[in-house]
Amino acid sequence: MIIDCHGHYTTAPRQHEGWRTQQIEADTAGRPPPPRPTITDDEIRESIANGQLKLQRERGTDLTIFSPRAAGMGHHLGDAGTSEAWASACNELIHRVCTLFPRNFIGVAMLPQSARVSPKNCLAEIDRCVNEYGFIGVNLNPDPSGGHWQDPPLSDRYWYPVYEKMVEYDIPAMIHVSAACNPAYHTTGSHYLNGDTVGFNQLMTSSVFKDFPNIKFIIPHGGGAVPYHWGRFRGLAQDAKLGLLADVVLTNIFFDTCVYHLPGQELLAKVIPAENILFASEMIGAVRGIDPETGHHYDDTKRYIEKLPLSAEDKVKIFEGNARRVYGRLSRAIEKQSARAM
Ligand SMILES: [Zn+2]
Repeated sequence: MIIDCHGHYTTAPRQHEGWRTQQIEADTAGRPPPPRPTITDDEIRESIANGQLKLQRERGTDLTIFSPRAAGMGHHLGDAGTSEAWASACNELIHRVCTLFPRNFIGVAMLPQSARVSPKNCLAEIDRCVNEYGFIGVNLNPDPSGGHWQDPPLSDRYWYPVYEKMVEYDIPAMIHVSAACNPAYHTTGSHYLNGDTVGFNQLMTSSVFKDFPNIKFIIPHGGGAVPYHWGRFRGLAQDAKLGLLADVVLTNIFFDTCVYHLPGQELLAKVIPAENILFASEMIGAVRGIDPETGHHYDDTKRYIEKLPLSAEDKVKIFEGNARRVYGRLSRAIEKQSARAM
């Protein structure tokens, strides 16, 4: 089985994002938001059949761990109330996709975060998504301000209510920022990779793994700058007397394969043990074009992994086994959703 652990619903029916625009406009004008739009099952089917499902079939992957569009989370817009309503609408839509395509998609929640609003605000939505929707993870935004970094670092006890929930439910968090509203950053070019790198560095220098020995985080986009600068982080850990970096982080931190060229994947696989790498493509995401050097889509990452000089056993771990281990509820969710598909 080939499990892509990083996909977003970037092809959602247009009225979904249309409502978000109206919601924020209404909030700015001090009016209540309009009612949510009708989205039919057929519209959802069409958006998936011509989008992610089509690419799953073309590329030979089986299952996508699926969450709302990351740049669309927009935690810097509106306030705690708008974030709550928007997260709820987005997660409900993911649940509908997973219900319509139970063999192909399993849900991960976006959280109703807002800058400088306690992450305790997210707990009810996590409960709802795990218990009612059967979701198996969350996307945690380390910078809900959208590029101004106004919240405490992930090492701070500020975040601990979410960590407690993650451990309670055995769900991992992918550290994932949303759109940048700081013009210094390009959302997917620098803000995302920066968010990955910042998140890793904050966790590496923290007591989080001592306080939550079983907690699991996925650093997406191949770990941002981390694998490439592994020597720097090893040296920093050594200077700070934290111990060997591998001992400090590799029980709790995992990296996905959203790296859009073979040399990058080779480096990832050379530096990070196969046990800590999860297959992912984030397809129909940040980079949608075709690489003229290869003639294939940049985000067709399965091709790169197939070419890596790793054993067949290691590749099975990357494509399937690690995801089942890191997402503690995944195997049960696969069984449950497959039974529903019968
Ligand atoms: Zn993403």
